[in-house]
Formats: sequence, C-alpha cells, structure tokens
Amino acid sequence: MTIAIAHCRAQLGIEAPAVAIETHLSNGLPAFNLVGMAETAVRESKERVRSALLNSGFEFPSNRITVSLAPGDLPKEGTRYDLAIALSILAASGQIPLAALSRFEAVAELALTGALRPVRGIMPAARACLLAQRFIVLAPAAQTEAQLVRQLRVLPAADLSALCQHLKGITPLEWAAAPAPATDRSHAGEADLSDVAGQFLARRALEVAAAGGHNLLLSGPPGTGKTMLASRLPSLLPPLEDEEAYEVAAIHSVAGAPRQEQDWQRAPYRSPHHTCSAPALVGGGSLPRPGEVSLAHRGVLFLDELPEFGRRVLDVLREPLETGRVSIARAARSVEFPARFQLVAAMNPCPCGFWGDPGNACRCTPEMVRHYRAKVSGPLLDRIDLQIEVTRERHWLRAANGEPPESSALVRSRTMAARQRQLSRQAKSNHELGAGELKHHAPMNEAAASFLARAFDHYRLNPRSYHRVVKLARTIADLAVEDVLREEHISEALSLRRLEISAAATVGNPR
Ligand SMILES: [Zn+2]
Repeated sequence: MTIAIAHCRAQLGIEAPAVAIETHLSNGLPAFNLVGMAETAVRESKERVRSALLNSGFEFPSNRITVSLAPGDLPKEGTRYDLAIALSILAASGQIPLAALSRFEAVAELALTGALRPVRGIMPAARACLLAQRFIVLAPAAQTEAQLVRQLRVLPAADLSALCQHLKGITPLEWAAAPAPATDRSHAGEADLSDVAGQFLARRALEVAAAGGHNLLLSGPPGTGKTMLASRLPSLLPPLEDEEAYEVAAIHSVAGAPRQEQDWQRAPYRSPHHTCSAPALVGGGSLPRPGEVSLAHRGVLFLDELPEFGRRVLDVLREPLETGRVSIARAARSVEFPARFQLVAAMNPCPCGFWGDPGNACRCTPEMVRHYRAKVSGPLLDRIDLQIEVTRERHWLRAANGEPPESSALVRSRTMAARQRQLSRQAKSNHELGAGELKHHAPMNEAAASFLARAFDHYRLNPRSYHRVVKLARTIADLAVEDVLREEHISEALSLRRLEISAAATVGNPR
C-alpha cells in the first residue's frame, strides 16, 4: 500500500496550521474522494486538479483515490490546497518521486491548464514553513511576499509540469534570489510634522499621544487641518520591531493586500470613511477577513467626522479598544485578529461646523449641538485620553515670522526616549496603566497633588478623568525626563483634556 503525503498550510485568523494531504490509491471502481472538513471551494478542487493533471501531460489514476486533509477537525477553505493535492496524487501513482514531498510545502491554486496561481495569506504560511524547516513552493506572483520572511527558501513555479521536472531532477527551476538586507526605511517619504505651521497645542498633543500611546480626539471647524495633523502621527512612532512587523504583514496578507518591502517597519495608518460598515471596521465574512481596526494594528486608526459614523459601528469599536483584539464568531471555529491601534478621531464642534469659530457664524440651535455631540457615546470618549480643540489660527503669519516648525525626526527622538523610559519602568505604555498602577508608577509631589485636587473641585470632573489626567501628566513628565510629577505637568495634562473641561464648565448650555 502506498500513501503519499504532501504538505500545505491552512489559514485560521493570522495563523497557518499545518495540513498534511495524504493520498491512497486502492483497487476498486474509479472514484475520487476528498475527506477532512473540506468546504465548498476545496471540494471543487477535485475538478481543477483532474484537469490540471491531464492538461500537464500526466495520467489521472483510474483507481479509487482517497485524499485526506489532516487534521480532520480543522475547517479548510479556499483554493490553497490544489497544488498539494495534485502533487500528492502524482506521488501516490508513481509519476514523481515520493521522497521529494517531505522537504517542502506547496501553497497555490491550480488553473485548469496546470498553471500555479497565488492565494491570500502567503505571509503566515511562509513564516510557519520556515519554522518547520521546509522550503515553500508557490506561484511566481506570490514570491515577493514570501521573500519578506528572511532565510526562507522560496521556489516559484509557473506551472505543474515545470515543477515536476524540477522534482524529478530533470530541469531545475530557479530559486528566488535572497532579498537585499533590510534597511530602516520606516519613515522615508512620510508626511512630516514640519509641514504643520503654528497649531502649538495640537502639535504638542500629537507628541504626547505618540510618547504615551494615548488616543486622541481633535475637535474643530472644517479647514483647521485636523486630517493633516492626524496623518502625521505615524511619523512620530518608532519603527516596528521585527516580530511586530511580521504580525502586521500577516494581517495585511490575510486581507489580500500584502505589505510592500519598503513598508516593512512602518506603522500602518488607516482612515476608513464614515459610511463604512461594522464588518468593514472590525472584520467579518464567511471566511473571516480582518477589518480596518486590525489593518491599523501597531499603527494609527483615523476616524474623521466621528459623530457621522453609525451608532452600531462606534459600539463595535469598544471591544478592540479595550482588549486589543477582535474575535469573530463562526459556526466552525471562531477566529481572532489582533487590533492594538492608536485611535485618532476628529469631529466638528456642531453639525454646521462653525460653533465657536470667530470667523463664521454657527447656524445650529443648542438642541442640535447637544444631539450631535451626544452621538459620540461616553464609553467611547472614556477611552480617549487626549481631547483638544483645534482652532483656526493665522498660522501663515506665525510661520513667516517665527522659527521653522520642528521636524518629525526631531520630535520622534523625544517620543522614543519617553517610550523607552516607560518600558524600563513598567514594561508597557502609560496609556495601558491601570488606575491601581498609577500610585506606584506616577508619584507626584505635594504641590502637584493639591493643584490636582483644586482643579477637580473647580471643574467638577469625575474619578475616571482623574486617572486620565494623571496618565497624561506621567507621559508629559517622561518627555521632560522627570520621575516625579510636578504642578506644571498636571497643568499641561489638564490643558490636553480641554474638551471635557469646557463641557463640564458649560453644563446645559453649549453656547
Ligand atoms: Zn453649527
């Protein structure tokens, strides 16, 4: 009895569990059975494999063919098993050497002609393949993506017959050339903070956000540069570590939009439109794909016109904001995607946009303003440490007279040093500190404590706000390379929660 085993990879979230394709030929009426929780697209691969074999000049065995996809309890979807199934049948029927199959994994769809086609999710499969100490065989179009996994040997093959000639040792295929060593291009060609003149409060808010990992809300009339500011946050973040870069690349690979080599260490930036649906934001589909929150993993998610997003859409944001993950429940097996992003949200102060704008008259009634602001729920605002107003200022005048604005590289040198302080002190960012941890990691002197107490009485703020202000002050002190929080750190932290403070000061009267 001959059993041939070819190796492939399933796709489950951003994992790529091993799948062994075992083929057994037995006597009996000709039949082709596929077993092992194969979903529709996999069952259809029988037809593709049969045509591909015949059109590549091979024989399709006239025995009883049983192909088992193991482990049997793992759901298998998509067309990624085609090539491994074909190779397993060829080896079982003695048309290619059996021993060759143990050294590689094959992940590709087959065209009826026998040509190899690329599939989604190559990156996780390639990574797992390296750990299993095998090389990978795939379609030439998938080669660049697999090569992002350094040290992996990649064998691109145009079609089944060329691959089999190689495996039989007749005409060797060419291995993909090893990529050039990585250079840090995480910030090359990025939107730079030096383009933003004036806007001192907003620039400082970006710096504090980048240093402490805090979420940020920008409120202000149209045309004040909120989008321009948000798009500059990635330029203040450190380059991705290798492990983070793999994780990010795996998510984008599974989504069907592989990252380019030059983006490898770059923090992602995503800005979905406010008409985006809940599944588009957090992920979904019968074969679950990651949503915008996961595509922004280790980077920035920018939501412009926050109150315009659907209520349900904003509600589903809470899980990833709290846990850094999204889980998508499915009948077969639920799937998780990482979603640890920094949120930057922007909103107009009122429906027409000009509430509080000295240059334009607002046409909204107080009731309209209240209703508009109420769309952004308390639990969501609770996750946003920095809340500031962006005003229209004559920044072109300031830019003409004053110092040139600092560049992203200069600000980044401070934010990265502040991040390092946090990591060595508490092994996480200030944004992630729990209320109980603040006492220990954010000590303050007496003057700071009494100033904070007075401010809270004066503005009638709630206890949750207390912790947010202390967290912000912790980051501000880290930027100043100081261990103990002082009054000026507290005072600046309060100024970076201006929206909440002005809301508390004008209860019942938005004007
Ligand atoms: Zn208005």
